Amino acid sequence: MKESLKTNGVKVRFAPSPTGNLHIGGVRTAFFNYIFALKYGGEFILRIDDTDRARSKKEYETEIIKDLNWFGIKYGYFYRQSERTEIYEKYLDALKEKDLIYECFCTEEEILISKEIAVKSKKPYIYNGRCANLSISEKEKLSSQFKERGIYPSIRLDIAKVLKAGGNFKAVEFEDAVHGLLSFNPKLIGDFILKTEHNRFTYNFASIIDDSDIGITHVIRGEDHISNTPKQILILNALGKVSPVFAHISLLYGKDGKIMSKRDAASNIEYYKKEGYLPEAILNYLAVTGNTFTVRELENGKEKISEKEIFSNILEIAELFDIKKVRGSSAIFSEEKLRHINEKWLQGMKTEILIKILIEKFNLEETLKKLQKTYGETLFVEIIDFLKNEFKTVKEILAEIKIFFEDFKIEAAEIKYDIKLKETLLNNLQKIDSDKFDENAVKNAVKESASESGKTLKDCYETLRLCITGRQDGPSILKIIKLMGRERTLKRL
Ligand code: GLU
Repeated sequence: MKESLKTNGVKVRFAPSPTGNLHIGGVRTAFFNYIFALKYGGEFILRIDDTDRARSKKEYETEIIKDLNWFGIKYGYFYRQSERTEIYEKYLDALKEKDLIYECFCTEEEILISKEIAVKSKKPYIYNGRCANLSISEKEKLSSQFKERGIYPSIRLDIAKVLKAGGNFKAVEFEDAVHGLLSFNPKLIGDFILKTEHNRFTYNFASIIDDSDIGITHVIRGEDHISNTPKQILILNALGKVSPVFAHISLLYGKDGKIMSKRDAASNIEYYKKEGYLPEAILNYLAVTGNTFTVRELENGKEKISEKEIFSNILEIAELFDIKKVRGSSAIFSEEKLRHINEKWLQGMKTEILIKILIEKFNLEETLKKLQKTYGETLFVEIIDFLKNEFKTVKEILAEIKIFFEDFKIEAAEIKYDIKLKETLLNNLQKIDSDKFDENAVKNAVKESASESGKTLKDCYETLRLCITGRQDGPSILKIIKLMGRERTLKRL
């Protein structure tokens, strides 16, 4: 590893909730954490946020891990929040000891009604603190009612007491690495729930307890969590703990300006696999979206700073990554740009590595083996090398690979061509000996056919292409013919 990548105790985490598949925006968050750790020689932890037992599913966890592996995003320590209940209890006890929490007997239904009323009157919902000062007898009465219903009093943070204990501070503030100083009025937050009436710890509590307990130094996550951050900081304040650095990165937006949601086809990882985008090219694309990478270069002896958009490996992205340059908004997703970056990655990739990726990431082992068997090792590599420079995605390469197979069938009904011209071409190509069947010889045979038939060279090449590939356009037909060889070409014709 390079000199710049030395350790300084950085510890980051990616914390997906297993309530659905990994979203492309989630991959971006995971990747930013990953390269941040890579850059500083730190630790990257995978935490599964499964405190919501009703919505969390094991299948989703498995899928998320599979997808991270597909992208090559490697994590160190791995754990589930559901395994850490005792630790959360311990911290809750500490808050109880300090008298900074209280039991709340407002039920979920009651809160829902209050929230609806707030929405109707166009005001933000703030918990009214009804249970902050219940008398002992009221508590006892409500407690037994809750027991009968099989639910628990929820536990809320007493913000007024936290503020008082902290010297009556007026604002909850933090320096966001992306957004700069953010300031919140604690009075507008309202006492929030740490543990629910179903005896489950909430995201806000479990998340910041983990971050603090495990010693996370930087919390890099989506900006949809900005409003949770003052709550989490209040919990840390109450416990007398220091806060990690927060960096809230932009969510991904579609061209329509709307946040990409799980409903968008392009938010699904399967979509990218199917379309044939290379995992590293996708990561490269996600890294430069809503972000800037700059490099210093020497030009005529002068230093010049320029923007870099296409990388050749992940380590290079990590080295140049600067969290401060990530923009807090307007990360607009563009598939066109992804295609462009994918094309560059294909072109820049060694053919042997591409073959490995096609097998490991796109399950193309069977297809490639068949091709290799048909053509032999040398021609096989030449074909892949040729295709990788002609196409932008694996999907397109795959479609073209098909024409190289013996059993590739062109439906005669699909194509209209000049039969007489085809016969002339076949006749002239047949005249070339096997050992002289190269691009030049084919070119001459085409010239010959053109003058014999009175057709243009263009006509000849179009007819050849149609009869050999069944297509009207594509990469150099001379090159395809050369790779296919004499026998296969004649047979096709
Ligand atoms: N489970 C949360 C999410 O998926 C994690 C947020 C965080 O990183 O704190 O959005």
